[in-house]
Amino acid sequence: MKLETGTRVWLRDSVHGWIGAAVTGTSAGSKSDELVHLRTSNGPTQIAVNNTDDHPPLRSFTQEQNFVDDLTQLHLLNEPNLLITLRSRFERRIIYTYSGLVLVALNPYADTSIYSNDHILHYASDNPPSQPHIYSVARSAYDGICNAKRNQTIIVSGESGAGKTVSARHIMRYFAVAGKTKDKNTITSTEERILATNPVMEAFGNAKTLRNSNSSRFGRYLQIYFDDKSSIVGAHIRIFLLERSRLVYQPHNERNTHIFYQLCAGLKTDFSLKRELKLGSADEYNYLNQGQCSRLPGVDDAFNFDITRRAMTSLGIDNSTQKQIFRLLAALLHLGNIEIKQTSSTRQDASVSITDSSLLHAAELLGISAIAFQKGLMHKTIGVGRIRAESEKIVTSLNKDQATTARDSLGRHIYTRLFDWLVIKLNSTLLSKESGASDSARQFVGVLDIYGFEHFHKNSFEQFCINYANEKLQQEFYNHTFKLSQEEYDREGLKVAYINYPDNQPCIEMIESRVGLLALLDEQCRLPAGTDAGLRTKMDEMLRSPYKKALFSGSKSNSLGAGAFTVAHYAQDVTYDVDGFLEKNRDSVPEEHKNLLNEAQNSFVKEVCTADLTPTTPPSIVSTPTQPLKTPLQAVHSPPSRSSVDELSSAFSKGHIRSPSTIPPSWPPASPGSPSLSAPTLRKQPTLGGTFKMSLNNLMTTINDTDTHYIRCIKPANQENASWSFDNQKVLSQLRASGVLETIRISRAGYPSKMTFDKFVEKYDILISQRETKLKSNNDRKASFKILEGTITNKTLYAIGRTKVFMRVGVLAHLDKLRSILL
Ligand code: ADP
Ligand code: MG
Repeated sequence: MKLETGTRVWLRDSVHGWIGAAVTGTSAGSKSDELVHLRTSNGPTQIAVNNTDDHPPLRSFTQEQNFVDDLTQLHLLNEPNLLITLRSRFERRIIYTYSGLVLVALNPYADTSIYSNDHILHYASDNPPSQPHIYSVARSAYDGICNAKRNQTIIVSGESGAGKTVSARHIMRYFAVAGKTKDKNTITSTEERILATNPVMEAFGNAKTLRNSNSSRFGRYLQIYFDDKSSIVGAHIRIFLLERSRLVYQPHNERNTHIFYQLCAGLKTDFSLKRELKLGSADEYNYLNQGQCSRLPGVDDAFNFDITRRAMTSLGIDNSTQKQIFRLLAALLHLGNIEIKQTSSTRQDASVSITDSSLLHAAELLGISAIAFQKGLMHKTIGVGRIRAESEKIVTSLNKDQATTARDSLGRHIYTRLFDWLVIKLNSTLLSKESGASDSARQFVGVLDIYGFEHFHKNSFEQFCINYANEKLQQEFYNHTFKLSQEEYDREGLKVAYINYPDNQPCIEMIESRVGLLALLDEQCRLPAGTDAGLRTKMDEMLRSPYKKALFSGSKSNSLGAGAFTVAHYAQDVTYDVDGFLEKNRDSVPEEHKNLLNEAQNSFVKEVCTADLTPTTPPSIVSTPTQPLKTPLQAVHSPPSRSSVDELSSAFSKGHIRSPSTIPPSWPPASPGSPSLSAPTLRKQPTLGGTFKMSLNNLMTTINDTDTHYIRCIKPANQENASWSFDNQKVLSQLRASGVLETIRISRAGYPSKMTFDKFVEKYDILISQRETKLKSNNDRKASFKILEGTITNKTLYAIGRTKVFMRVGVLAHLDKLRSILL
């Protein structure tokens, strides 16, 4: 960048991210620095710049039109220019912008009237609008089903409140409305059922939090199945990591999942059920009133209860089953109100009165004898390993805190089981064998609505799991965008400089390998004397030394707890408090509680609490092995500028993007220690981390066999729920965490558009003369070459491979424009 007087630049700013400035002069600074004098709207300032900055404080300013639909079109691909483009679009009330293969979606927190059925039909038509829209992503996935006959996945990510769930709903609606139904104006009962899963899943799995009044407390992968006529035949839901703690604890101004409030409010008019469940108002229950917001302005829980019930009915959950579900929910509320006291001032033992009405109600609703329940709540059976005989059991009394913890873990266990049961139930309706739907399913579109990368002031096991999931998704994203194209270039004999894309495999291995973080955690959970502090020590020993803090660094335990450790994630370093890791990972229920549930007289309770709730497997449909034809969502006209490629290579050379070479090649290490890992002596209970790892790897297997589409939701407002508000810093940090910034830099170095010769000639032979068209019948490769030679003057904008034409950003759009003029 030339810093002559008068040059306009962007200056890094702690408040606004970047602000505009003009160079008023330069002078020599200390060492190799150059001192740049600037004028900004805040007044004059000066800044030292040098050649080794990772993140230079100054960036080139561009005056080019900032309203491009695709960020990769920008001539100067730098942070401030990307930011200002998104911002100017947002100020013009445009929330969607492409970024190559990714759709960036800014949450307006306001009605935009861009989601009508007419919009859907327009995007589904033969002449769809070119403006970026969530419907263009849905359409592109649907085209993949109809034309390429390949399975598709749309990955929606972003932080809480960014708009993932709303996006997923819009996508589902698109398929329901635009899918090839007999009559485009009516949606079939199958489609209706798929849509009905939203209110049900959200009632049981969403809650009001500080960040989002309808925050999903679980991840979801919804597969919508299509038959050979590309009509919807059914669906299947997979869920990930339902938040366990919310049932028993809600921070100030947060609520439990909606269904409880709906139930309490909805029963006001159903007196007989209210009497049967012995339910009062939400304020009366410990599990509902801690956040002190059991009523929310603008939310009609009773009305929503009606919607949930109707949705359940249309999903095949009949009234009597609904009643059973409500009884179980009511039992949980009574459970949370059971008063656990300390026996006396001298005795620490917990006591529960046999006349406690909450105990009696909960016991009755669960079908458990009140006496057995009372006893179960106050005692714990200890037995190490597999207990072989009754005589080996030791029964001890719990103190008040222990009994309360045990009571809450029982509640969490029941609710988690109910949620799992519900998903299985919905799945059995969504793709019933009886209807033949699962036999006729040929392809699917999967929609993944999963929490984005999280980095809070205090991070725990939950954030660790979420960030682990994001590492896996990010890897898929990298592979998708870079590795596959690199391999293809090689296969096609193109000479494209190797793009050193970021590889986060070492971090993933550090987490999930045989001696990785999760394995160490499981090992510690199985040790009778395992502790959080022990885990940290073990991690320090096993994970830290070989890698010199490249990926993992531990910090000393402090007086407050078991300490913390830091993982260098792809997005940023995150420090996790190790306190509570073991307990959360164990996710265990005391033996006597399991026994209580086993002996329950209520058959529904037994079914929910003791049946095998292994998630059902969806029909396994493998995509056709042909390489998908991937076209960019929207191609553009501008050629890649020199500067963008320079910025890219400098980002790497300065170590801004971690390259695999910084990690020792021998990861994972040949483990010297950890004998107990290879020969566990104790009974292996499935742990939360282990289960999550398995379900995540299953998900990745599914996704790897699909063509992927990416939607990155961004919450631009600094304040909760503020409409049309855009905070630069907030947006920048989310763009960074989503990998959008990096991919933009990198994708421009390659050829994002490609087409097989025959398809290319078929579509564009109109652009060359009749004589040359004749060539087509003889040689599509030559004809493709002729077409490009005749229409694109800059030869660096395309390349001819062995089977395909490869084009830089902008070429396809240019060809389409020429074609539309001729047609
Ligand atoms: P997430 O699932 O990412 O946590 P949600 O999808 O629940 O976030 O969105 C949070 C809130 O933001 C919604 O309840 C809605 O008010 C608003 N919102 C999200 N997407 C849009 C959109 N496309 N248009 C208008 N408002 C939206
Ligand atoms: Mg959500």
